[in-house]
Amino acid sequence: MRDELTADELAFLLRQGLGPDDVLDVRRMTRSYWFQEIKRLNKTIALGSACKKGGHRLRSRKGHCVQCDSSKIAFAGRHDLTQYLYIAGSLRARLIKIGVCKDLRQRIRQICTERHGDARDWEVIYAVEIERAGEIEERVLSRLGHFAIHSHYWKNGSLQQSIELRRCSISQALEAMSAGDRGEGLLSRHQLA
Ligand SMILES: [Zn+2]
Repeated sequence: MRDELTADELAFLLRQGLGPDDVLDVRRMTRSYWFQEIKRLNKTIALGSACKKGGHRLRSRKGHCVQCDSSKIAFAGRHDLTQYLYIAGSLRARLIKIGVCKDLRQRIRQICTERHGDARDWEVIYAVEIERAGEIEERVLSRLGHFAIHSHYWKNGSLQQSIELRRCSISQALEAMSAGDRGEGLLSRHQLA
């Protein structure tokens, strides 16, 4: 399955806490057939035809484009879980990383080992444990979209594109996290670091 997916699709899945094993290739199946088949095989995502809006191919079990709206992943994905939404920083790279994980220490070790932004000095600046962390993360990342940095890192012998790096100040990242609807008040209630 991995070979069928683009780097962008793999990165999207990774951010949902999903992987190639969660995907069923339905491109040669009729809709009524794969709607049953995806449940029987217990897969979360269908690889289907391109969506009209963005040309995305990843679909929910109900056929909605999950890349246009990741809230369509209503089950099994990490959106349902309580996780940490974190801001990490590297002084050396002068970069901020926004991400979601279950285990902060393990994640920091991992991003240092994988040398995100070509740095090994990542530290957690701020973290909050919340429900639907992945959904909020996406909003924070898009608020900071104009600070995006395109960088690569190595994972299990293959080059991955990092989509969570931003070149902005800590206060700009914190501001993006506390701005708007559900993020409101997050900082004062849950601040850890
Ligand atoms: Zn789409």
